[in-house]
Amino acid sequence: MNILVINSGSSSLKYQLIDMIDEKVLSQGICERIGLEGSCVKWKTHNNDELTVFQTIPDHTSAIQMVIESLTHPDRGVISSMSEIAAVGHRVVHGGEHFQSSVLIDEDVLQAIRSCIELAPLHNPPNIIGIEACQKLLPSIPMVAVFDTAFHQTMPPYSYLYAIPYEMYEKYGIRKYGFHGTSHKYVAHRASEIIGKPIDELKIISCHLGNGASICAIDGGNSIDTTMGFTPLEGLVMGTRSGTVDPAIITFLMEKEKMDAQEIGDFLNKKSGLLGISGISSDFRDIEKAVYQQNERAELALEIFCYRVKKYIGEYIAALNGLDVLIFTAGIGEHDWRVRKTSLENLDYVGIKIDDQKNKVAVERGLEHKEIEITSEGTKVRTFVIHTNEELMIAKDTLQVISSGTSLKV
Ligand code: ADP
Repeated sequence: MNILVINSGSSSLKYQLIDMIDEKVLSQGICERIGLEGSCVKWKTHNNDELTVFQTIPDHTSAIQMVIESLTHPDRGVISSMSEIAAVGHRVVHGGEHFQSSVLIDEDVLQAIRSCIELAPLHNPPNIIGIEACQKLLPSIPMVAVFDTAFHQTMPPYSYLYAIPYEMYEKYGIRKYGFHGTSHKYVAHRASEIIGKPIDELKIISCHLGNGASICAIDGGNSIDTTMGFTPLEGLVMGTRSGTVDPAIITFLMEKEKMDAQEIGDFLNKKSGLLGISGISSDFRDIEKAVYQQNERAELALEIFCYRVKKYIGEYIAALNGLDVLIFTAGIGEHDWRVRKTSLENLDYVGIKIDDQKNKVAVERGLEHKEIEITSEGTKVRTFVIHTNEELMIAKDTLQVISSGTSLKV
């Protein structure tokens, strides 16, 4: 049973075709620079060769058409016709309060996704365009929407509401939504499988540390709090995003630097974070290189980043009233042993201690895209590095929705 996973962005469209019998990726690729000059499609064939074909891709419908052609190509294709695809799973960034789980797409669902555009103006429109293009070209294949926000819909009101007048929640939906839900859900379930204990018996903290970064507190499989908020700007220090700041800084800067709303938004989203502190780069590999050369601002950026991770871990241990499992995932979380070490220093009194050797081995042996436990022997909390796989999670959810045959819309 094959599931096609589509992640449609404003100028790119990523896809994976996954055989759900053995969860094997049959084909994957990306259409880049859609609607722009120099557009191309890159894909990996079944024997892992990478191919790039430069071709005009005027819009998302043409991109989906190219995906269909590459999947069913007589020589390079992996299936003979699209009837071998059971369903398409679409990544959708924002489901607002409409969706607590993945759902079969119909006109009502599409309308609800459209109603969330105001909350995710950069992400939901291209997601919708991708869905509509697929519906047009593959009208008989069921489509499922998998939301980044859905996993966090289990947060209680005292966790998701901000202490501003309640009317703003009623009027504009201002509340914490949280993001990276598909990734937090995937790694939490993997950890439960690795340990061999049902997820409903576990208290888990998942640290998704990539260019965008968030931490999630998961109690019995349910998200009870997460660091990203109304938008993905809140919480941890990120590549170019400030994470949480005193909101008074915003009005102060608007006044002093004569910034308008757009400029202050760009300042906090695009010029802050690791880039803003280090003055070097938003990319952690560059920060690490500069730290090695004893660049003080890069050292400071690393320290601030790790200190924030550590503080949220402490906060979430309190929120969860304990901890069984701690997980690191995404670009930095999976690859940077120093970040894991620094963030977890002196936490042994709450039962967190990692084994230095195992922590470094996770990288040195090139165990990329794998899973490794880095817990120090005899320690209560089990700490893992787990490669996130959002596409597989989307495919699993899609299969579950079409198998149950129900619309899970709330
Ligand atoms: P996103 O999906 O949010 O764009 P990723 O999960 O791909 O982000 O993570 C990107 C981040 O991971 C970048 O800051 C990058 O520098 C960092 N990263 C990737 N590989 C390594 C590595 N080997 N060591 C340290 N950081 C790394």
